[in-house]
Amino acid sequence: MTARDPVADLRRIAFLLERANEATYRVRAFRSAANTLAGLPAKEVAERVRTGKLTELAGVGDVTARCVAESLTGEEPVYLRRLVATEGTDLDAAATALRDALRGDCHTHSDWSDGGSPIEEMALAAVELGHEYLVLTDHSPRLKVARGLTADRLRRQLDHVAAVNAALPKGFRILTGVEVDILADGSLDQDEELLARLDVVVGSVHSGLNDDRAKMTRRMLAAVTNPHLDILGHCTGRLVASRPAGVKGPGDRAHRPRTRAESDFDADAVFAACAERGVAVEINSRPERQDPPKRLIRRALEAGCRFAINTDAHAPGQLDWQRFGCERAALCGVPADRVVNTWKADRLVRWARTRR
Ligand SMILES: [Zn+2]
Ligand SMILES: [Zn+2]
Repeated sequence: MTARDPVADLRRIAFLLERANEATYRVRAFRSAANTLAGLPAKEVAERVRTGKLTELAGVGDVTARCVAESLTGEEPVYLRRLVATEGTDLDAAATALRDALRGDCHTHSDWSDGGSPIEEMALAAVELGHEYLVLTDHSPRLKVARGLTADRLRRQLDHVAAVNAALPKGFRILTGVEVDILADGSLDQDEELLARLDVVVGSVHSGLNDDRAKMTRRMLAAVTNPHLDILGHCTGRLVASRPAGVKGPGDRAHRPRTRAESDFDADAVFAACAERGVAVEINSRPERQDPPKRLIRRALEAGCRFAINTDAHAPGQLDWQRFGCERAALCGVPADRVVNTWKADRLVRWARTRR
């Protein structure tokens, strides 16, 4: 393929972002990279891409450097391709359609771990929202600050859920699950035998978030290739300060406003593994998480991944936060048929089973 003009691609991205009313700093990042590159001979740009030295230039970051590298291979940059794909769509309508297509939530917590409410209350709130199911995913033992469930407590929870389910309205059920910690070596923090019994397993990194890139990539790849893992939870671990309009704060007892940088890992390798193994990438709707960031949602989409748009609710009212995840998914052009929680409960459970 013949090379594209990387400067033109960067400018086009800036223009499309601007027209979509995206944050000014983001628009500026593409425009200033374009300006820097416009002043350099094409040969030098190509040489810097080859040697990985593009980001040493003022105004060129990882995201813009990747766009340039893709342009030079003759490929329309992924970032641009996704922007063009969603161009002209009514994003409000697309987000609403996505939200309407969701039948349940695959990541929620009760007061058995660090949530604020009993399982019954979470379930009743989910019924009111029109959900057909709620996957209960309390934390695993190693997360002591969140009162993670030991194998014994999880076994007791399974019995309890069965009893609660018997009393819930027809057409709705609580599915069993866990948000299992992805440990330092990538193993999952719960008995295999128990993981195999659960309907849906979400796995997330909660510790060692500053692991270096190679270690974090190995760790996540080990987790994703574990046949028990169904959904990769909030994959970058970032915390952001900004919140969607109308949301004052996450409302958790333990919440203190803070931010945290994304973990560093080879997202392309991890998403490729997710796509190959059929693991869904979570789009976490929590206002302080918004994880993964949109540029990574776009990459996961390109990689062929499935998604789960989850709230990670720790209280009943938070179950209504799916809207925020849907908005970001719509901005990235995620189609409903790639989202596992648009499926009926039986299909979701079958999908998880056949992956074991
Ligand atoms: Zn988590
Ligand atoms: Zn969680």
